Amino acid sequence: MKIVLQNLTKIFPSRSKKSNEEVVAVNNFNFEIPDGKLIGLLGPSGCGKSTTLYMISGLQKPSSGKIFFGNDDVTELSTENRGIGLVFQNYALYPHLTVKQNILFPLQNLKGKDKLDKDTMLDRAYEAAKLVQIEQLLDRKPSELSGGQQQRVAIARALVKMPRVLLLDEPLSNLDARLRLQTREEIRRIQKETGITTVFVTHDQEEAMSISDMIVVMKTGIVQQIGKPQDVYDDPANLFVAKFLGTPPINVFSGHVKDGRLFIGGDAVMDIQTVKDQEVIVGIRPEGFLLDENGPLKCKPVNVEVMGRDVSIVSTHDASVNPLVRSIVNADNKIDITSEYVRYAIKPHKIFIFNKETEERIYFEVK
Ligand code: ADP
Ligand code: MG
Repeated sequence: MKIVLQNLTKIFPSRSKKSNEEVVAVNNFNFEIPDGKLIGLLGPSGCGKSTTLYMISGLQKPSSGKIFFGNDDVTELSTENRGIGLVFQNYALYPHLTVKQNILFPLQNLKGKDKLDKDTMLDRAYEAAKLVQIEQLLDRKPSELSGGQQQRVAIARALVKMPRVLLLDEPLSNLDARLRLQTREEIRRIQKETGITTVFVTHDQEEAMSISDMIVVMKTGIVQQIGKPQDVYDDPANLFVAKFLGTPPINVFSGHVKDGRLFIGGDAVMDIQTVKDQEVIVGIRPEGFLLDENGPLKCKPVNVEVMGRDVSIVSTHDASVNPLVRSIVNADNKIDITSEYVRYAIKPHKIFIFNKETEERIYFEVK
């Protein structure tokens, strides 16, 4: 089921009595979510992810704009009639019910022509439990389960009605690091097995990048960029997106372009074409540095952190916006941190420049 968001906007009235300023939680969101894909809705806290999800689910009504499931306009449809499965951060299981009863619950509430007989309900509950691999836990109470198992029950409960659309709001936030990793793979597997169009909300870029077919990066209610995770990482539309994706994060410098050369501080790092003279913001991905004794970028080494196959060289540069510059190079390189400078050449496809005022990307060609 494809989902179309058309000029979707949500404005909340002011919460404070003093100011009348309303909050534009979601601002003119346009996107066609392809059928059967997993979309990662990504951005910092407060950027409008949950509000977007709640509008898709029908829990909140848009201030303006429309939502379509397939060709059906569902904007005015109630949550119950949209055919969605919802999973939240806090699993919201009923503590006094067993796992089986929790999963059965949505089916027992079906009315009229949707009503199912008892055996069908049990079959469906068992199938859903099997899909999330908790079929051996059906008689336990939620308190007798780990966090990861509880979240699986919540997912089974969302799947049991065979929804057209699965909506997950930060479903892994309450899990510890290892379980988070494991459960996100599980969600991906379940999504692929069922083929249900899924929207997965998270503030964790790595989580979104690792399991999504496409990511949507939001900031203050406004969509910044939509694309395949790798494409957005490789080709960020603006400084915000460049900074939001990647661990360790992108290194940011103040720089300028003069006579076709890009400078970081006093270092002429690259000859570039088609950019007029101006001050710019420069971003270099940590993997974009090449150790080169004649390289143009001169940093002062501080420390080398071993990361197994790779090492991270921590250094400083006067034009760096952050206190430290962090590069990642192969561990085979010999690095002498007592030397005055570590010198780098920069991989051209790992360096981006941005307009100093608008922070929008400036595209260039390497000479
Ligand atoms: P996210 O899920 O990305 O953290 P939300 O969608 O929850 O962000 O919130 C987006 C913005 O809308 C925030 O500024 C938040 O304070 C505001 N907001 C969310 N819900 C309400 C509400 N019911 N009333 C007023 N403001 C709200
Ligand atoms: Mg939220």
